[in-house]
Amino acid sequence: MAKTATDVRGEMSKFWQEHSTRANLTEMMLDSKADEISDIESEEILSAVPDYAGKNILELGAGIGRFTSKLSANAKSVIAVDFMEKFVQKNKEVNSHRGNITFLCNNVMDLQIADDSLDLIFSNWLLMYLSDSDIEILIKRMLKWLKPNGKLFFRESCFKQSGDKVRSHNPTIYRSPSWYTNLITTRAQDKSDGKTYGFDVVLSKAVQVYIQMKNNPNQICWLMELSERDPSNSQGFETFQKFLDQKQYSRNGILRYEEMFGRDYVSTGGHGTTKEFVKMLNLKKGERVLDVGCGIGGSAFHMARDYGAEVLGIDLSENMIDIAIERQAEYRVPKVSFEVADATKVTYPECSFDVVYSRDTILHIDRKDLLFQSFYKWLKPGGRVLITDYVCGPHENHSSDFKSYVAQRGYHLLTVPQYGKVLEDAGFKNVQAIDKTTSFVDILRNELVTFGQKKSGFLEKFSLEDFDAINAGWNDKLKRCGMGDQKWGLFYAEKA
Ligand code: SAH
Ligand code: SAH
Repeated sequence: MAKTATDVRGEMSKFWQEHSTRANLTEMMLDSKADEISDIESEEILSAVPDYAGKNILELGAGIGRFTSKLSANAKSVIAVDFMEKFVQKNKEVNSHRGNITFLCNNVMDLQIADDSLDLIFSNWLLMYLSDSDIEILIKRMLKWLKPNGKLFFRESCFKQSGDKVRSHNPTIYRSPSWYTNLITTRAQDKSDGKTYGFDVVLSKAVQVYIQMKNNPNQICWLMELSERDPSNSQGFETFQKFLDQKQYSRNGILRYEEMFGRDYVSTGGHGTTKEFVKMLNLKKGERVLDVGCGIGGSAFHMARDYGAEVLGIDLSENMIDIAIERQAEYRVPKVSFEVADATKVTYPECSFDVVYSRDTILHIDRKDLLFQSFYKWLKPGGRVLITDYVCGPHENHSSDFKSYVAQRGYHLLTVPQYGKVLEDAGFKNVQAIDKTTSFVDILRNELVTFGQKKSGFLEKFSLEDFDAINAGWNDKLKRCGMGDQKWGLFYAEKA
């Protein structure tokens, strides 16, 4: 018989009764290496949490309070909840001197929290102790408790047990990362302002410390943002991420594009243009690069392999990042990592990168002004930005075909000079805005010829429909370029 939510609650509480007798780190983290790993891992976890100074925080499953100490240090208030008396007691002993913490000994399913009262909900290893149906209920409540744009951070063990503690009985539920992302981004809730809200992914990534110290890539954390659900912003999909992953960048969609662009690339010219443009950056060994919309990783691998750069590739599409991580496991290029992140929502500390690099991605993003302001902030002084992107001819001349193509893809296109101006307005100096349409057309023609020659090999992996769709897509691009509607731009700029 399937377990009910009540059965699961009983089992989990029994499990934690057994593991909360001493109320120390090793016991709570169910791991003999807890003392060794706790400090560095908690630092990494908190670096993914947005600035919480002056904020109202709810911490769920707070345990003995190793995060409560850090969060309460500069938050306005923290409500720290755990259902194990001994853990709550310990947390109080260590942290009550702060004066801004409310300690609750409660099941998280029994909480009463005022609507719109929280800026951040933080939980580290909690949802894996809740049944599917309880998570659903809790997520809907969280959507009420958080203020608009409020954040939810959570971290879970996925797929399998992580700590080495031998457990006679382990009721913990080890889910896949996509299970969490999917459930949490598809629930919606009306709020008191009459609008409907849901969670959008800001970031989801593997905890690197666990990969390095324990060779365990299954510790996953997420940052989500409470966002208004407006289907017109995501082409009728619940979230923009779903639009990308289910439409243009389905797994099959990506892999068939790759046949055209070349191994590891989903952008014009593949490795050839990447080699050519990356030269402009004069990358030095050890320089930190952020590759925005990194796709399946071609550029990141090139910059790390051939220049010794340290590259962080981010992309909103889970399918893209899954493939990039598969390739990274195959090539083992040092100093490259990939994370699911929305470039329009994620934040990094000021002066984090020497280079921000982005290939044929920003066409998906409407507010280029805000994005470039972020790039400017994230770059160190003297930092460089290099972008290629789809752009357009003067808007007043656009054909109706071009307009419907742009609308159907959900693209946001500027002209080359407009693009350069937005970079200048964000504070960049030495801005170069170059019309590359002539090479774009040459490349498209060459790609079409090579693709035609590969037809029989392609058809061993994909359908004739796939072949025709790609071919037609390229011919349409050539037509739109011929009419002066579609263009391709290269942009380089520096932070003074
Ligand atoms: N977040 C802490 C503790 C993680 S261990 C840290 O990372 O250091 C998981 C914690 O969740 C335990 O303290 C356990 O008692 C608590 N917990 C599990 N299910 C719970 C529930 N339904 N309600 C409240 N607390 C719960
Ligand atoms: N730069 C890669 C991939 C280009 S395809 C390459 O050269 O091969 C464009 C990419 O932009 C897709 O992978 C898409 O998922 C990503 N993207 C679109 N909107 C994004 C956003 N808001 N944040 C991060 N990535 C985004």
